[in-house]
Order: sequence, then C-alpha cells, then structure tokens
Amino acid sequence: MAAPQPKPFEIAIIGGGIAGATLAIAFLKRSIPFTLYEQGHAFSEIGAGVALSPNAVHAMKLCDPAVHAAFQKVATKNGWESKRNTYFDILDGTSMVEKDLKELFTLANSQGQNAVHRAYFMDELSKQIPEQMCRFRKRLQSVDKDQETGKLTMRFTDGSSAQADAVIGCDGIKSRTRALVVGEDHPGMRAQYTHKYAYRGVIPMEKAVEALGEERAVNGCLWLGPDAHMLSYPINGGKTFNMFGAVTDPGDWPSMDTLTAPATKEQALKDYEKFGPAIKKQIQLCEDNLERWALFDCAEHPLPYYNKGRIVVVGDAAHAVTPHHGAGAGFCIEDSAVLACLLEDERVRSVKDLEAVFEAYNANRIERTQWLVATSRKTGDLYEFKDEAGRDMAKVEEIMRERYEKVWNFDIEQAVREARKDLGR
Ligand code: FAD
Repeated sequence: MAAPQPKPFEIAIIGGGIAGATLAIAFLKRSIPFTLYEQGHAFSEIGAGVALSPNAVHAMKLCDPAVHAAFQKVATKNGWESKRNTYFDILDGTSMVEKDLKELFTLANSQGQNAVHRAYFMDELSKQIPEQMCRFRKRLQSVDKDQETGKLTMRFTDGSSAQADAVIGCDGIKSRTRALVVGEDHPGMRAQYTHKYAYRGVIPMEKAVEALGEERAVNGCLWLGPDAHMLSYPINGGKTFNMFGAVTDPGDWPSMDTLTAPATKEQALKDYEKFGPAIKKQIQLCEDNLERWALFDCAEHPLPYYNKGRIVVVGDAAHAVTPHHGAGAGFCIEDSAVLACLLEDERVRSVKDLEAVFEAYNANRIERTQWLVATSRKTGDLYEFKDEAGRDMAKVEEIMRERYEKVWNFDIEQAVREARKDLGR
C-alpha cells in the first residue's frame, strides 16, 4: 500500500523513552512529520526488566506492527510450559518453608508473564527511528509562540532553539513540559515521593535456580509481606532473573533531583528482616553495590488536563505512576497509539486542527491513566496488608483480580473510535 500523504505540520517529540520512541514509530507509519529531541546523547534505558501486559501488546500493534516485532524479538515468557499464562504466582514472603512452597493463588492472563530487558527493547525500538529525525543533547527549557508565524519556539538549555507546530512532551517523571501545560505554580507540576523505595537486581539465572529452586526462579513470582514486597520474573531469554523489591519508607526522600541512592545488602536484609529465606537469598545474590530507587508518582496532585494549546504531555510526563501494577510503560504505549491514530485522522488537515486533536486525546486518556496512578499506589499497600483487605487473602485476591482485569482487558481500538468521535465534536 502506498504511504499516506505527509501531514502539513511538524511535531516536536520531547524525550526518547518508551513513550517518545513508540510515538515516533507510530508517526513514521502514518507519515506524520516529526523531530525527536532527547537530552541524552543517545536513546538509552537502564539494565533492568519491564513487564508488558496484554493491553500494552495490543497498543504496540496499533502503533505499528514494527513496535510489536521489536518487542517479540526480546520478550521472555515464563520458563515452564505449564505456566505460560501465569502472570504471577502469589506467595507468602514471610514463609519459612525453604522448598516447594505452595502459592496462595495465581494471576493469569492470555499471554502470561511477558517481560523485556529495557535496554535491549530500547535498542530494537531505536533501530526503527531514522537518525536524521533525532536531535540528541537537547534538553527542553521553554516554549513560546512566535507571534508572527504562529509556530512554537522551543529553547534548549544549551542556548539553541528550534520551531515546530506542536510540542509533545514525552519527557518522563521529571517532565519540563508538564510545567508548560499546567503552569510553574501548579502542585502537580512535580511528582511526589510515595514513601516507598525499591531495590532492583539482575542475577544470572543458574544462581537463582540454585538458590530458589527452578519453579520460583524461572517463573513470575510476587511475594507479599509486611511493609515490603518483592517480585521477580525471567528476562533475557531466560538467562537472567530480574528482581524488584519495594519497601515502605516512613521518612522523606531528600530531593527529586536524584531518584537513586547507594545502599548495602545489610540495609536491604534489614528492610526484609520479617521475611523468609526465599527473599533473603534473592538479596544475597545481588551485586554488593545495591541502589535504592525512590518511587515517585502523580497521585497526590493529578494534572487537571494533559494539554494546553498545541502542547500536550504523554506517558510519565502526564501520569507518572508507581510500578506496583507493572503497567506504566504499557499505558505510555496506549497513549502513543491513541494520539497517533487521532493525528492520522483524515479530518486533521492543518495546524489549526491540532488543538482539537490534543483535546480529544486528553478527554480519552485522562480517566484511565489517573485511575492507574491512584490504584497502583493502593495496590502497593495491598501487597503489604496495609489496604482495607488487611491479611484477608480471599479479599486480597478479589481486589487484585478486579484491578488487574481493568489494566489488562482494555479495548484500545474502541478507545480510538471514541476519541475519533470526540474529535468530530
Ligand atoms: P522515561 O522513560 O522517563 O523517558 C523520558 C525521556 O525524556 C528520557 O529519555 C529523558 O532523558 C528525556 N527527557 C527528560 N527531560 C527532558 C527534557 N527537558 N528535554 C529533552 N529530553 C528530556 N511499567 C510497566 O509497564 N511494567 C513494569 O514492569 C514497570 N516496572 C517499573 C519499575 C520501576 C522501578 C519503575 C520506576 C517504573 C516501572 N514501570 C513499569 C513504569 C515505566 O518504567 C514508566 O512508566 C515508563 O518507562 C515511562 O516512560 P516515558 O517514556 O514516559 O518516560
């Protein structure tokens, strides 16, 4: 099929994380002209895992089958055939049973655990984006409207500037674009500390199997417990055991400028002192130079809207979320799919239509994404028996199933149809 006619406007994408990269690929497929500005010297992601659920996979396909192909190339499922649909076996982290511990219950979906090493996924995505459409080492500072041409002038911290017809902020949790949308004084301009931090570890699988037994090492597990929880899943074709342990912190985090702090295994073991051997062994297997990752989100001051004029925010810039539902990246991809489909609409013919597109995107995405931010925080507490369910496992299970269903079973095609109706209005 012939490529569609290029749209008569130029979009600036700010940020090349999962949101910016998937949006760029979705734009390429639809002949939507863009330039991507990234503050780093290249596309990059950290060396840890990210799990993507069925809603994210559907959204990838809608962005462009090339996004899904990039994911498939590096995605890893549970090791056991009998657990291919298992998302997580839910276990009691405080159990002192060393071997063959039985799960409390299992969460399963159509694709089961499906995770990637972030850096490898980003590598595959970035191969799809032509270099000439990217400007690296460009950190956005401000955006003004050029009164003569009507274009938006972006100024970068290196003193340079560039123009575009619209600016899409995919600039993550510390977004600068967020402030340009809601104003410098809005409390939602900055994400807030959720009083949880996390340890992350990537461990050679053979060591994890030796310590935990094959069933728990090669398949997704979520361990519940008081004031902390831990989860793990295989990545890197099953060669690597990816561990993530969240801890409740009654204290404050010094500053949002630095989201990580050095930590020791002794501190981590102390944080998990009420937990059983399965958890302690995972900590022992981590490298000595551990880090604590502060978990920030936008739950306390959700943005009242995601767009202002021809500026709009996408992904964590709009709705930074804790990782307790493993869904933040998936929702970034949903955002990209909806926004790209709206811009592709044949009624969108000129610069003056862009504000209506961003209005329709905002109307379509704000409720679901802010639900996730709020629910994810509560779910972190649910895993630690702090939620209304306490230690009532039947209730914990019921609540988890209900919330995960809402994350996973999302009809992205229907969402786009509704957003297009909004555009018509
Ligand atoms: P980012 O990945 O932060 O990308 C923003 C980009 O913008 C960066 O490249 C940055 O350099 C650039 N940038 C920033 N400011 C500027 C500027 N002013 N000018 C130019 N460039 C700029 N989600 C899941 O779906 N599944 C999971 O399993 C999962 N696990 C997680 C575990 C942890 C510990 C955390 C913290 C999050 C997890 N998430 C998970 C959430 C997910 O990682 C995020 O939602 C997602 O990566 C956000 O992508 P993004 O592109 O919006 O932002």
